[in-house]
Amino acid sequence: MVMPVKVGIPRTLLYYYYYPMWRVFLSELGAAVMLTAPSTKRVLDQGLKYAIDEICLPIKLTFGHVLELSGKVDYIFLPRLVSVANREYVCPKFMGLPDMVRHRLAGLPPLIDVAVNLRRSGMDIYPAVWAVGRFFSASRIHILKAYRRSVKIWERYSRLLERGLLPEDAMAVIEDRLEKVPLFLENKVCVALIGHPYNIYDSHISMNLIQRLRQMRVTVVTAENLSEKIINRNAARLPKRMYWTLGRRMIGAAFHYLAQNSIDGMIHVAAFGCGPDSMTGELIERQARHCGVPFLNLVLDEHTGEAGVATRLEAFLDMVRWRRDKGVAEGGSQ
Ligand code: SF4
Repeated sequence: MVMPVKVGIPRTLLYYYYYPMWRVFLSELGAAVMLTAPSTKRVLDQGLKYAIDEICLPIKLTFGHVLELSGKVDYIFLPRLVSVANREYVCPKFMGLPDMVRHRLAGLPPLIDVAVNLRRSGMDIYPAVWAVGRFFSASRIHILKAYRRSVKIWERYSRLLERGLLPEDAMAVIEDRLEKVPLFLENKVCVALIGHPYNIYDSHISMNLIQRLRQMRVTVVTAENLSEKIINRNAARLPKRMYWTLGRRMIGAAFHYLAQNSIDGMIHVAAFGCGPDSMTGELIERQARHCGVPFLNLVLDEHTGEAGVATRLEAFLDMVRWRRDKGVAEGGSQ
């Protein structure tokens, strides 16, 4: 029996956007996909050991996840994500990631580091599709079928997110790991969590932020729960176009939730060492203050202590609840 080619995917960075698509595309091409386990202190420590000191936290964590795959797979899927949207870029760190990994980590399996650059046109996805597909199949029809199927899954994933699911829940639904779509608890307090997906959804580096908020009976909404149309419409309120995709998504989502008056507070999560975050965080904070919405800025790094985050979160939520209750008392039906 021919063993399938094993392809490892690190559970970091744009895994939170594209994993359902990547998994189906690679599986349809006959690969056995191996995803790294959720991040732990050990994985992060491994990354810290090998990544350069100056780099941001999520990239350090990615080094740790890549090391987890070493010796276990035939290839590591680490595409060079230059641009995933028209006239925009992801981040220079994403562009250089495969080079950094190769330079710093010896003895890795070959990387599938095909460049994805959709800055000029969405049609430019096809060279990347063929380039990945050729690792597994000589048939263009086979590759195209696999790609089309993966796009369908990604569209379903996006719809689940827009219905209010967060990525891990939506992936569980798609992979039939949940019997039914989870119901949304309508908690009294609703908080918008704004940050890069790989910071807010990674339970280790976010210090279990989403879980903590849910345990405190807070409904959490994020940028991923909004359509591109809503995000773009709100991001367009900036006087100048933002050409960093992730920053544009954060600004668009934050401005939307603030304008809708549908949240009781906003938490912005930034990674230490992230240049774009310092600018987007500032813009979002100003808007939150302008709208009178309680705002908490959390900057995460490898030294961030869990106790400190928990204390700040509790103090923030006390304030949010106090304001909300005061508003109800004063305004009657607010
Ligand atoms: S956007 Fe910021 S956090 Fe993300 S990879 Fe770039 S520098 Fe790092």
